[in-house]
Amino acid sequence: MKEIILGKSVNNLEIKGYFFGEENAFNKTLIVGGIHGVEPQSKEFCDLYVEEMKNLPFPDDAFLCIIPGINPDGLAAFTRGNANGVDLNRNFPSSTWKSTPVSGNNAYHPGSAPASEPETKIIVDLLKKYNIKKIIAIHTNHYIQFPNPPMINYDGEQSRELAEQMSVASHLPAHGDIGYPTPGSMGGYLGFDLKKISITIELDDSKKSPELYKKHSRLFEVAVLG
Ligand SMILES: [Zn+2]
Repeated sequence: MKEIILGKSVNNLEIKGYFFGEENAFNKTLIVGGIHGVEPQSKEFCDLYVEEMKNLPFPDDAFLCIIPGINPDGLAAFTRGNANGVDLNRNFPSSTWKSTPVSGNNAYHPGSAPASEPETKIIVDLLKKYNIKKIIAIHTNHYIQFPNPPMINYDGEQSRELAEQMSVASHLPAHGDIGYPTPGSMGGYLGFDLKKISITIELDDSKKSPELYKKHSRLFEVAVLG
């Protein structure tokens, strides 16, 4: 395992990635947690996996980059957005990106331009650099306006098979539609614009991370091997 500082947040906090396996492997996965600072269990869930895997052998012909906390400013301040008040999950350069937030609600502020935020750019650049075709975003179902149950949400038909495998492994239902508009979301950009395998996990926000990890951690193994 290699720990690499991928860049800095708006408030100059380090954003770390943990790299497992061979960079030139065919099967490459990116897992991102802590996108919304009000969902700290999503970061801790990823941290628990890194902790468990760091001394274990990694599967052959697989590569994983995991970023437990892509939004360190939001995690430190317990805010949904980053230090600029931008919802990173509405800031991706997708065909659906809009300059105004959904329902005029600033909690979903999309930023001044697509990929305007340093945290968003880290992901966009990483995908290009390593040509990663499979991305898993970890969230909890903490909500502002649109409640949704814990689930595995997939973007695009190409993502369905892995979502269904992860559903069996994690005991979370798989759905192709999260049920509310998400312009500029990471999942939509990757799944519909770039046609990558794109999965968003919504864990139960009312549970603590050790319990979530105990219940759902098999999804990591399926994600990496799938
Ligand atoms: Zn979220």
